[in-house]
Amino acid sequence: MKKINLITLGCSKNIVDSEYLSAQFTANGYRVIFDSNDASAKTVVINTCGFISAAKEESINTIMRFVEAKRRGEIEHLFVFGCLAERYANELRAEIPEVDSFFGVKSLKDIVARTGMQYRQSMIGERCMSTPKHYAYLKIAEGCNRRCSYCAIPLIRGKYESIGIEQLLAEARLLSEHGVRELLVIAQDTTYYGLDIYKKQKLAELLDRLSRIDGISWIRLHYAYPSGFPEDVIAEMAGNPKICKYVDIPFQHINNNVLQKMRRNSNVEIYRLIENLRKQIPDIALRTTLLVGHPGEDENAFDELKNFVRDVKFDRLGVFPYSEEEGTFSALNFEDNIPEIIKNARADEIMDIQNSISKELNASRVGKKYCVIVDRIESDYIVARTEYDSPEIDNEVLIPLASAGNSLPQAGDFVNVKITESEDYDLYGELV
Ligand code: SF4
Repeated sequence: MKKINLITLGCSKNIVDSEYLSAQFTANGYRVIFDSNDASAKTVVINTCGFISAAKEESINTIMRFVEAKRRGEIEHLFVFGCLAERYANELRAEIPEVDSFFGVKSLKDIVARTGMQYRQSMIGERCMSTPKHYAYLKIAEGCNRRCSYCAIPLIRGKYESIGIEQLLAEARLLSEHGVRELLVIAQDTTYYGLDIYKKQKLAELLDRLSRIDGISWIRLHYAYPSGFPEDVIAEMAGNPKICKYVDIPFQHINNNVLQKMRRNSNVEIYRLIENLRKQIPDIALRTTLLVGHPGEDENAFDELKNFVRDVKFDRLGVFPYSEEEGTFSALNFEDNIPEIIKNARADEIMDIQNSISKELNASRVGKKYCVIVDRIESDYIVARTEYDSPEIDNEVLIPLASAGNSLPQAGDFVNVKITESEDYDLYGELV
């Protein structure tokens, strides 16, 4: 069978785009591999990320690795698409002529045609999954209408475009038929869903209707925006057992001067939302992302951010040092005057604080029982997750194989565990 290597860099939205593309390739008789270390396929397609400097560097390095493979005659065709290509197509074409073609983010049809295949319109929503079969990302919209001053995404992915509810339900049914039990709802901003095509926020309705699909057991909400967080979504999460008591809301910062420079909401809204979520869903796990080193973040502002992390005790937290991105409001209006070494030191300091919080929160789970989903078997352990943990980014529950006896659970199975031990970021448990 002809083979094509489809390499995906960047975020979960890119994973979904690649899965749509791989379904088209498969329908044209190709076997699709997803392996950046494999040069056995004569055609390589790279889905790039262009969000921040580190991601751009990784994308360029990956392209150059396959340019070398092409120069050595190991591969014949090299195609590049995604955010980096969308943002820098002309520069890339000039600097890396060995790449057969560069495509933007909304170009699946062009890529299929350029690789000599036939695009099948009827396959809209069909995907060949690259994640483990029991969970899948469901991208509910493209682009973003927010105007966070440091962010290049609206410049790359354009205006917010919700995908119609019926199309999403059809896609989710297909995923369920293929064994998906957990849906991770993603977009650049999931809470904005529907405002463009239905003129009102429709996320709560979408979550409710997704939860009525047979076979789907868990639905997890990512990339929510703090401003105007829909009350009906909180109510849906509180009352619907299939919606994980988990939400990912990137707050980015808490100091009002910095938030203002970021062109984001005030900290009053942030504290009110956290209080409201925890009041209506007491056991909710809050994941957030913070940005340190943005212009305007003086020592006082950073102290306020550290206190915010200490006081709120997020269940899951990630932090990024500010990366000046050309064309953004911040790059055009503010001096990037905080040295990289300070930015990185601040990011480390935040993660040190979070480390002890995670340790403390995990210790409080010892002795408790949870329903977990099995992700895989790895050496002597069954590796699983509670509903408070998203795959690949959050904590895991490690269950000694020995405790399973003869009935070894498989990936995608839900089992009950009692937590016996805890570490900073992982838990140990036994089947009950
Ligand atoms: S909401 Fe997210 S994707 Fe949209 S502009 Fe802000 S940071 Fe960027």
